[in-house]
This record gives sequence, structure tokens and C-alpha cells, in this order.
Amino acid sequence: MSDELGFSTRAIHAGQEADATTGAVVPPIYQVSTYKQDGIGGFRGGYEYSRSANPTRTALEECLAALEGGGRGFAFASGLAGQDTIARSLLVPGDHVVVPSDAYGGTYRYFNKVARPQGIEHTIARVGDVESVRAAIRPGSTKIVWVETPTNPLLNVADIEALAEVAHAAGAVLVVDNTFATPYLQNPLALGADIVTQSTTKYLGGHSDVVGGAVVTAKRVEVPGFEDAEERIAFNQNSIGGVAGPFDSWLVLRGARTLSVRMDRHCDNAEKVVDFLTGHDGVSQVLYPGLPEHPNHDVAARQMKRFGGMVSFRMKRGEDAAVKACAAVRVWTLGESLGGVESLIEHPARMTHSSVAGTELEVPDDLIRLSVGIEDVDDLIADLREALDIHG
Ligand SMILES: *Cc1c(COP(=O)(O)O)cnc(C)c1O
Repeated sequence: MSDELGFSTRAIHAGQEADATTGAVVPPIYQVSTYKQDGIGGFRGGYEYSRSANPTRTALEECLAALEGGGRGFAFASGLAGQDTIARSLLVPGDHVVVPSDAYGGTYRYFNKVARPQGIEHTIARVGDVESVRAAIRPGSTKIVWVETPTNPLLNVADIEALAEVAHAAGAVLVVDNTFATPYLQNPLALGADIVTQSTTKYLGGHSDVVGGAVVTAKRVEVPGFEDAEERIAFNQNSIGGVAGPFDSWLVLRGARTLSVRMDRHCDNAEKVVDFLTGHDGVSQVLYPGLPEHPNHDVAARQMKRFGGMVSFRMKRGEDAAVKACAAVRVWTLGESLGGVESLIEHPARMTHSSVAGTELEVPDDLIRLSVGIEDVDDLIADLREALDIHG
């Protein structure tokens, strides 16, 4: 589908032609493992076996590629399954990766506990600081610069364009985890990234009812030695097999169709919640890329359409106040994950980021993370006010 079309048009139509047999306007759930062949090797539409390809997954993969403006999309059973496939496609023992200092906990755990014992080394860098990334690169052995922006849960912002230059100058590929921003707010491939990944469990699915992952490769990866990144990922998606099932693909595709309207509401609500938090006595700091005092606000304003639905803040009275406030809400749900229509609150140090306690990635214990949903924002603020007035 043409890149000239607007984002919402691509979200609703890319990969989603009316069904050839029935005219069904929504791609059906092809809940099937194998396909009748018209004579040996006579595949209809190329379908042979559903690990290799399934029409519902194809619809999603075409949509993902169109949304990110990439060459090819791949749908996985989870965000981490997609990340693992990227790593195994681009790295061999002895290679080195630069990993963000506040990466998603599971991403760090993967590089630290899964990839490292298999001979893939990593160095932690503050991705909001280009020099920190440059210093972490080991010329000759760094093959991936891995970036999340905005980061989880500290909402740091990385300058994708600058980091693409730094990575490419060292012969490394820039991979961007676009989960927080989504392709609606930010297009890493257009800024020079080579591969973009996201957990579709979050905003893309958007309804907290599916776990999934996406990988999209640039139309052309020009880093010497990685020109075939797309073929390697395609080969490994099938050879490792962590694919998205038909129903999960269908759910993510359904979410994708409303991504733009949901994201706009997430952003509207987040901005109002940020206004409320910055004026509250019990809050010592609000972390949101949309705030002019955010250290990378200018970069965020340049590379993002808006600043997203994730907000973190620190409580003046410390960990105890943070833990109690998380438990005192009624409209907000205390829970992990993010990006669904419902608002979630959590305490990263004890919940999503407990696995990085004691490491370089440890997060402050007075920090609360919000995934601002699309409910009526007045209800969200009233509920937060009550919890913070008591415990702040
Ligand atoms: C959730 C998340 C992941 C991992 O995705 P899963 O679908 O849970 O495997 C990766 N990166 C970020 C930023 C996430 O929020």
C-alpha cells in the first residue's frame, strides 16, 4: 500500500483487502495449520503451513510494514520473541550490543541472562546522551545499538537520527523499540533506524487482551554485512517459530485500525494528568517528554508527533508513599503492562522492574508509572487526587 496515504488510512486498509472468496471486509481468522496443495508444490497464494505463513498473520504483517514505512513486517507471539529473533538473526558469539540503561526489564534480562551466556556481550549506555552511546561502542565488535525511546519507566528520549549516524559509523545496526511511541507518534525508520520492533501487547493491540510482537525492517538496510537483515529475520521467524497465531494476529490488527484515535486520546489525557501532577505538593518530579523542562524535550518535539500516554512521577515522601498511593486508587487499575484503553498504575521498583534491582538499571523506589487510558480524564484526575492527598 502506498506510503503516500495517511496513517489512519494505512492502519485501516493496508493488508486488509476484502476477502477474495466472500468479500468479508475484515480479514477472517484463518484458524488452520496446513493447506491443500493443487498437486505437489501447488500452493494457493503461497500458503503451505501456518508456522511459515498464515493469511491472517500476513494481513497483520503487511499492515505493520505500512505503519512503520518499512520493507517487511513480521508478527511474533510476543515482543520478546521478536527481539530474540532480531538478536539471533544479526549476532554471533563474540559480538557486542549497546543496551539502554533503562530498557524494558525483559529486554535487559534477555541480553544479560540469555544472550550473554551464549557469548553475546553488552554494555549499558544512557541512550538520551549520544556521547554515552558512542563511548559504549566497541569498534569492530558492536553489531547492534539497541534503543528504546521514550524509555521505560524513566521516559528518557533518545535522538534517533544522531544515534543512527553513530551506529552506522561503527558498522552497527540501529534497532529501535517503538512500543511507547507507536508508529503513529514516531517513525524510527524514517529517522535512519534499520529495524524497528514493538510489543503489540501494548498500544497496538490496545485492549489488554493479547500478547504479541512486531519487527519491521527498513526498505534498505545499508550497513555493510547486514544488507540481508530482512531475509535473515524471515528465515529465523520460520526456523525458530515464535510466530503470532491467527486469532492473536486478528486481535492486533483490530487494534491497529483504531490506533490513531486512541493515541490522540491517550495523549490528551496524559497532558491533563501531567498538569495535575506538576501542581501537586506530594510530587517531587514529573517525567514526561512533553514538559519543556524534560532534558530531551527538544529532541522529543522534533521526532515525535505528540508525547504519548506514559507518565512517571516521583513522590516527595518516598517509597512508602508511592506504594500506598498505588494501592489507594479506584478508577486506575494496579497492574503491569501498558497501552490499553484502561488506565494502569504501578510501582516499577517492586513490579515491572523488580528483575533489575541491584543492577545498573535499578529504578528509584519513589517512582510511580502511569499508563494513562482513554477514560474520562476528570475521573482519572479525581481518583489520583484522592490517593495523593491521603498518601502524598
Ligand atoms: C512489554 C514490552 C516489551 C516486551 O513485550 P512482550 O509482548 O511482553 O514480550 C518490550 N519492550 C517494551 C518497551 C515493552 O513495554
